[in-house]
Amino acid sequence: MSATRKVRRSYANGYKYCSRCRTYHLTDKVRCPYCGTLLRNSPRKKKQSSNEKYVEVPAEILLTV
Ligand SMILES: [Zn+2]
Repeated sequence: MSATRKVRRSYANGYKYCSRCRTYHLTDKVRCPYCGTLLRNSPRKKKQSSNEKYVEVPAEILLTV
């Protein structure tokens, strides 16, 4: 009962994503230490269309496993 949903190096761990470096940084800063771009720290914003794919598994599938 462990694999509910796989979260890749997640924001929950304090990682923030730099969309410019395409890298997750473990920092409490707001900006990327390398390029200065504002980091993303919220996992779900439905508005942005990014290169990142977050696949939601339908509940029906989970039930049948
Ligand atoms: Zn960066």
